[in-house]
Amino acid sequence: MALRSVFDEGVIRSEFEKAGIDTQFIPLIWKYVLQNPNRELDEVPSLPSAAYPLLRSKFRSSTSTINSIVESNDNVTTKLLIRLQNGAFIEAVIMRYDTRLGTYGGKPRPGGLRSTLCISSQVGCKMGCKFCATGSMGLKSNLSSGEIVEQLVHACRLSHIRNVVFMGMGEPLNNYIAVVEAIRTMTGFPFQLSPKKITVSTVGIIHAINKLHSDLPNVNLAVSLHAPVQDIRCQIMPAARAFPLERLMDTLKNYQKNSQQKIFIEYIMLNGVNDEEKHAHQLGKLLETFQVVVNLIPFNPIGSLSPFKSSNEQAVKSFQKILRGTYGIRTTIRKQMGQDISGACGQLVVNLPDKELIRSSGLTTDIEDLCAG
Ligand code: SF4
Repeated sequence: MALRSVFDEGVIRSEFEKAGIDTQFIPLIWKYVLQNPNRELDEVPSLPSAAYPLLRSKFRSSTSTINSIVESNDNVTTKLLIRLQNGAFIEAVIMRYDTRLGTYGGKPRPGGLRSTLCISSQVGCKMGCKFCATGSMGLKSNLSSGEIVEQLVHACRLSHIRNVVFMGMGEPLNNYIAVVEAIRTMTGFPFQLSPKKITVSTVGIIHAINKLHSDLPNVNLAVSLHAPVQDIRCQIMPAARAFPLERLMDTLKNYQKNSQQKIFIEYIMLNGVNDEEKHAHQLGKLLETFQVVVNLIPFNPIGSLSPFKSSNEQAVKSFQKILRGTYGIRTTIRKQMGQDISGACGQLVVNLPDKELIRSSGLTTDIEDLCAG
């Protein structure tokens, strides 16, 4: 039987309990592993003696390995290609920011350097969104909670991660139990991420949204809406048929009432499909009673995989102006980053990386500001 990740919290906890070992040692093991990537579990100091044979026979300090690390030209974005124990590959993307750039309220912005990690929750995805490279793969498998946490472990060794967004490969709410467990691990010792700095992005899995707030209070919810009406949604996101827009909006209303948290709305701008002024008005009317932040995402071309084209800059700006001006909805435009390494939204697909990087122009981002609130 394959060894489990030491970061599979449910499994290690139950094994320790069965063996009568105090589970308080588990976070200490994680801290040691985090700080000592090349050491064996046998070398973790000061554990009860029964813990060593148990760790040796059932767990590995890491079940995944970094196959390659690809930096964008300007070093703002780093894509990790990670090989899982079963031979499958997933991707995680680190995005670095200097929050002191620019001004806030006319004054220099506070803050400093910080990083956001975009994490995968599945190998591939079954939702089949037409604009998404990952969707073209179909679902290969779910990640275990340990495999999800290991992405953070790998990234922490490269960068100080302050935010995590579940916007990589997969629909996180289709792997609900593992994602909830992984987030609980990430918010505990030794990672201690604030739940407010973690964002789960979904196409709108209604039954899972209904329980998300009670399972993960304070974690942010982002909804990939991408269309203001059901028929356009179904055209570009086949999974929307199972989650009709009207029911989804009722679900979000309840979620907001219970959580009192704002909801992030993701809206990919597709030329001639969902980017016209009438669509902006439809979206404005749909959202005007919610506390939301809308993030307009210029479409990233995915070669011959899809028939869509990016909206032009003017269309995106007009869309934003209508949402802001007519409906008073906070609306941002996601700046592009990582396109040269296919690390941008909707581009994560299992490909062994090209050796050569394609040149790209200034990559910056606002995703952290959007998600971390
Ligand atoms: S956009 Fe998200 S939910 Fe849709 S196919 Fe891609 S990974 Fe899956």
